[in-house]
Amino acid sequence: MEYPRDLDLVVAFGDSVDPESGRDDLGSPARLGHWLTVHGFPQSSGVPSAAELDLAVQLRTALRNELQARHDSDETGIRRARAHLESLAARIPLRASFSGHTAQLVSVHDGVAEMLANVLSAIVRAEQDGTWRRIKICHEETCGEVFHDRSKNASKTWCSMNVCGNRNKTRSYRDRRRKDTRPAVE
Ligand SMILES: [Zn+2]
Repeated sequence: MEYPRDLDLVVAFGDSVDPESGRDDLGSPARLGHWLTVHGFPQSSGVPSAAELDLAVQLRTALRNELQARHDSDETGIRRARAHLESLAARIPLRASFSGHTAQLVSVHDGVAEMLANVLSAIVRAEQDGTWRRIKICHEETCGEVFHDRSKNASKTWCSMNVCGNRNKTRSYRDRRRKDTRPAVE
């Protein structure tokens, strides 16, 4: 089975909550434990603790806030989200590993800690190689899906043109019509 690595993992982690349906794969320690197993990070100590769940949920929130603030070009929001990421990252230990072909930053522990460490190390690599700008949060406010923009110019706004792009267009059209039919104020 191919497990998500690098940015695919970051996207899957960001999308472990669906604001539209209310689904939350990190809704309880058991749900997080299941999510970890499905994504290739089994926890040898069993079900994650409440503290581990809290750390994972907070990191996801900070990550989604950073993407949202960047999307909105909200400099204050970006600074706040990155300060939150900074304080959370201090609780996720990483070490250099030279066992593979190229040196990597890997987790010191397994389970939740390993998954979160891989998320952090993927973000660091992506910020350094310039691909981080391709990780986005959908412009359609009811959607909020995190996606990897693989388009040539990294110019995508919506997770899916067919769904969210069209939803947005339909609403703009409706708003324009409403404005057009409103009686003119003298
Ligand atoms: Zn969307």
